[in-house]
Amino acid sequence: MKAAARIDADWARRPETAAVMRALLAAGKQAFFVGGCVRNTLLGVPVKDIDIATDARPEEAARIIEAAGMKAVPTGIEHGTITVVSGGIAHEVTTFRKDVQTDGRRAVVAYSGKLEEDARRRDFTMNALYADAEGNVIDPLGGLEDLRAGRVRFIGAPSDRIREDYLRILRFFRFHAWYGDADCGLDPAGLAACAENAAQIERLSKERTTSELLKLLEAPDPAASVMAMEKAGVLAHALPGADPSAMARLVTLEREHGLPPDPLRRLAALDADSWRESLRLSRKQARRLERISEAARGDADPAELGYLLGLDHGRDAMILRAALAGESLSPEDINRLEQGAKAKFPIRPEDLMPCYQGKALGEALSRLEGAWIASGFSLTRDDLLERAGCG
Ligand code: ATP
Ligand code: MG
Repeated sequence: MKAAARIDADWARRPETAAVMRALLAAGKQAFFVGGCVRNTLLGVPVKDIDIATDARPEEAARIIEAAGMKAVPTGIEHGTITVVSGGIAHEVTTFRKDVQTDGRRAVVAYSGKLEEDARRRDFTMNALYADAEGNVIDPLGGLEDLRAGRVRFIGAPSDRIREDYLRILRFFRFHAWYGDADCGLDPAGLAACAENAAQIERLSKERTTSELLKLLEAPDPAASVMAMEKAGVLAHALPGADPSAMARLVTLEREHGLPPDPLRRLAALDADSWRESLRLSRKQARRLERISEAARGDADPAELGYLLGLDHGRDAMILRAALAGESLSPEDINRLEQGAKAKFPIRPEDLMPCYQGKALGEALSRLEGAWIASGFSLTRDDLLERAGCG
């Protein structure tokens, strides 16, 4: 096949990655880089993970890799994937597959010996780009042209492909948010098929929905995609009650204040408590989302937010509050936030002992802390001890 283009990437040349390709090729197997690593290199944007496609069956690929002195971990063996760890770097090696059956929750696949079949079971043309070990790009389905045009296009009939795996609805909006052309908008046929099947998103596992939604929200500017999701009726099924109208303002404020994209801050801007039922966040993520959402909805002043939440969460809460209210954020507010984040409560438990003990000690400390916050941190240690009445 004629090479459609060439990539010349540091990650492909590094010895750890070259060794994986060399081992498979030396064993007489086919091996190609595929998916995000090829797509992002062509776009000149950072590559997240390395996916390799091969005609070797997973057990065979594992044997070849181990014989070459690298580690093969059966991370997704049921869908044909092993993780090859070479010099500490992970590579997802997946056997060529073809879709054979559909259950809507996950595509059911069989192994194949042909790259062309493997390409057709992938989701979008821009994700079906391959490159050989020398960097020659193989483009069996016209993905390069779509990639250059910023067009996220389903491979085959969008409705059929969505019915094989409803996660592709969310992936459609995710890839548009990252790589789509803002002026052209979303591909009409894909969009119509997503709208038609929107309700089926609820059949997906919470883990898959959450991971896809967070990747979408991490895009530099997900506002247009999230608005389109709402219009197509997709957002209401992914996250009932979500309101995308503050997203564009949030992104503007983030940029004004030099904050990098943050999927949880964006999720909070959708202002939907249904995440508790619809999504599966880690305990740490859930806690952060709760804290910044609650603080944004409350009326604590910036200094208090800085003190109670710390600089980062406090700033998240303030930016979120401003985005939800359609207001801007003054430098004065930021100053007060920073002051609050630096403030140190001048009383330690020992200062109130033995005058207070046990439960009464805890209560006295929190009463004094409340008074100190309310004073704008102006009450001194002596003022506070006097209030405590320990003399
Ligand atoms: P990222 O930069 O986020 O890693 P990616 O394109 O590599 O983007 P992955 O989720 O890592 O996305 O998937 C790797 C490749 O596997 C995709 O490019 C696509 O070809 C294929 N793929 C992944 N999930 C699906 C799916 N649900 N349906 C069809 N193809 C899929
Ligand atoms: Mg990937």
